Amino acid sequence: MPFTQLGLHSSLVRGVQAMGYVDPTPIQLRAIPVILSGSDLIASAQTGTGKTAAFALPVLNRLGPHRPGQPRVLVLEPTRELAAQVETSFRDLGRFTDVRATVLHGGVGYGRQRSELRHGVDIVIATVGRLLDFLQEKALRLDQLEVLILDEVDRMLDMGFIHDVKRIVAMCPKKRQTLFFSATVPPEIEAVARFALSNPVRVEIGVARSVNESVNHALFPVLHEQKFDLLLGLLAKTDFQSVIIFSRTKHGADRIARRLKSANHSVAVLHANRSQNQRVEALEGFKAGRYEIMVATDIAARGIDVAGVSHVINYDVPENPEDYVHRIGRTGRAMAVGDAFTLATPENSGDVRDIERFIGQKIPQLTLESFGYVGGKSPAIDTSRPNRPAPRPQQRHGDRHSTPRRDSAPRAPRSEPAHHPRGKPGAHWRRNSGR
Ligand code: AMP
Repeated sequence: MPFTQLGLHSSLVRGVQAMGYVDPTPIQLRAIPVILSGSDLIASAQTGTGKTAAFALPVLNRLGPHRPGQPRVLVLEPTRELAAQVETSFRDLGRFTDVRATVLHGGVGYGRQRSELRHGVDIVIATVGRLLDFLQEKALRLDQLEVLILDEVDRMLDMGFIHDVKRIVAMCPKKRQTLFFSATVPPEIEAVARFALSNPVRVEIGVARSVNESVNHALFPVLHEQKFDLLLGLLAKTDFQSVIIFSRTKHGADRIARRLKSANHSVAVLHANRSQNQRVEALEGFKAGRYEIMVATDIAARGIDVAGVSHVINYDVPENPEDYVHRIGRTGRAMAVGDAFTLATPENSGDVRDIERFIGQKIPQLTLESFGYVGGKSPAIDTSRPNRPAPRPQQRHGDRHSTPRRDSAPRAPRSEPAHHPRGKPGAHWRRNSGR
């Protein structure tokens, strides 16, 4: 079904066309009619599925023209980057309307945000802390609210914001439409949904546990002390346009970035210890192609949408299986094909096993050809093991535990041509046998 038949106002169909969207994505096809009907909605869909337009379009449709006064739509987001991105989507899709949207988030001064609120906005997209500040100083009221959108609720739970989210929900008028988006809906999230929604329609887009088909993904088993050299080897042998490298910790991300810079790569870093200006500069620079590599932690990179990310490299195996799906969803977005590589050490076998169970498939294990593996071959990752075999050299939580280490292993030869057949075993890597 084309966008023209979804019952959207012609100014919004023009907005969609200006964005270059041809057909609605599955979440748009299913959620837009529900939202237009006025029902509450619980959608389990992750970023990359087109979920922002799935709520932005019908909400813009409902709003009609700009009305001075207090906001009629509130969108809560877990991170500043997501809030900024969602505001951009509202502006882009609503470019042929006169509806006004503004974004409120921390890390920047209050003045400009306060003055936008004073001028009257229809839609506020906010992170919880800054929104609560404005509510407290009465720069903003929620009594005119018609639609409340809770986006990435699972991430808000992970980040410890759920109590604040509930406080904000309690301040909204009882008569409203509530839209609830979460990649997964475990029981704790279900409880928040019961608190915030009434008689919701459920829409499940079956990618919450699955790996997007447009992503080729593979494990590169390696000993801990050779991880950075293997990363350099992969970068040297990969025909990439832009790469996001994920680190579990903020200090880890800084360290990887420093070492990549010494190896003459142009690198941006995105994590929560960076100032807001640094975060904006990193993301903008990466989007504009000034940096070929962005090193990021999960929380900072959650949901960010960068067109043309050709590769994702998990320098560390993600802690939560869900994060594997989110991380590799940064590539292969909107039908493009992308590659996702994970460096895994033998100590990670339990984590890899959990991920494979979660996504319901085995991840192919590959070896980088001509890399100087210690012992002449890559180590085995035995994912049939129920338990992790050894005390982990790297702790699981927080930067403060991460242990500095030396990378003394031989460097991979870097003389071969930097081309590969997009993630398939081939010229520079081959599938490990019997694993
Ligand atoms: P989201 O899941 O909202 O983060 O969207 C992921 C990406 O898909 C964004 O770059 C959107 O601009 C893009 N997108 C959203 N809807 C469509 C569509 N119908 N066709 C093509 N791309 C889309």
